[in-house]
Amino acid sequence: MPSLVTGWIEVEEYLCKGCELCISACPMKILELDQVMFNAKGYHPVQMIGESCTGCAICAIICPEAAITVYREKITQDVQESNEKMEKI
Ligand code: SF4
Ligand code: SF4
Repeated sequence: MPSLVTGWIEVEEYLCKGCELCISACPMKILELDQVMFNAKGYHPVQMIGESCTGCAICAIICPEAAITVYREKITQDVQESNEKMEKI
């Protein structure tokens, strides 16, 4: 049964220290520092800038502050309507 997986992330901005490890590690190159906003620690927090997240979770695994939560959505295409399943990592 064919299926697609897509993903997205949420960043706890107050935890981010702007180290850019997640930016370097993301295979889709869809992370960057917010160049405008500062968090309470005085850092620019990371943000997602594209829609091609695969939910691979590399960013969350590498983050030393555990600031990233990854969500995956599995879309099964066995019928015309997609069957969606959510899982939190
Ligand atoms: S889950 Fe993977 S693709 Fe999505 S932002 Fe994180 S590293 Fe990039
Ligand atoms: S790895 Fe974590 S602390 Fe470093 S920039 Fe990314 S979200 Fe922020």
